[in-house]
Amino acid sequence: MILDAFRLGGKVALVTGASTGLGASIAKALAEAGAEIVCHGNKHNPEITCNAIISAGGKAHAIAADLSDPSAAQLIINQALTYSGRIDILVNNAGIIRRAPAVDYSFEDWATVLDVNLSSVFRLSQLAGRQMIAQGSGKILNIASLLSFQGGITVPAYAASKGGVAQLTKALTNEWAAKNINVNAIAPGYMITDNTAALRSNETRNHQILERIPAGRWGDASDICGAALFLCSEASTYVHGHVLVVDGGWLAR
Ligand code: NAD
Repeated sequence: MILDAFRLGGKVALVTGASTGLGASIAKALAEAGAEIVCHGNKHNPEITCNAIISAGGKAHAIAADLSDPSAAQLIINQALTYSGRIDILVNNAGIIRRAPAVDYSFEDWATVLDVNLSSVFRLSQLAGRQMIAQGSGKILNIASLLSFQGGITVPAYAASKGGVAQLTKALTNEWAAKNINVNAIAPGYMITDNTAALRSNETRNHQILERIPAGRWGDASDICGAALFLCSEASTYVHGHVLVVDGGWLAR
């Protein structure tokens, strides 16, 4: 039955940045589909989504780690394996954005954004990929951005990191598709989360953005769930190296 291909019973999913925004939404959706969730968060409230999943009758665990620290990925994977014994799905969702004109952009901000948004995605994918290869299958879902395709305005490190996420998705696909590992990405459009609070509070930018979105509204965090479940489930078995845009039509303009 086709609907069975979307069920995640018996699967373990590790979701980074699961405390807030898109990560929280994805973690809860995968849990609803039957997966056991390892919810990663930074120092603040890593257990918030975990507790919500458990309250709703699901199974979940919490891990706190700062992804700007190069040793965090190994710690997260070790802890996830201690909790659950396997990793079937990795959702590389955690990310940050720092804004400044390129001429003023500090190298510290550049390095932090690249560490969190791109290097940690590689490290976590490498470590989870080894585990998935040993298990015989797996799903890796990276959260890219419209700035995987476009340059953005005064966010040079973010655009570079998200361009890198899209390319890394394809690079890993070429090595791992034959090993039953699907590596794909979602490029969300303009979604209502903490990440976009500054943009939404800027009246001019908010108006410019809304004017260009054919759907006529910002995305809600829940708008990403259908695409995420598809790419984390057996329903997408023959989908490899794809960057699926969930943007209310933004890129169609
Ligand atoms: P958000 O700020 O709510 O979520 C980001 C998450 O990443 C947070 O839970 C935060 O704890 C975690 N995080 C950030 N830095 C970390 C660090 N150093 N160590 C550990 N965890 C860290 O915003 P969001 O919009 O839900 O962002 C989720 C992903 O979606 C990000 O990768 C973001 O770039 C991407 N994205 C968002 C939008 C949007 O419009 N909101 C659009 C395109 C892409």
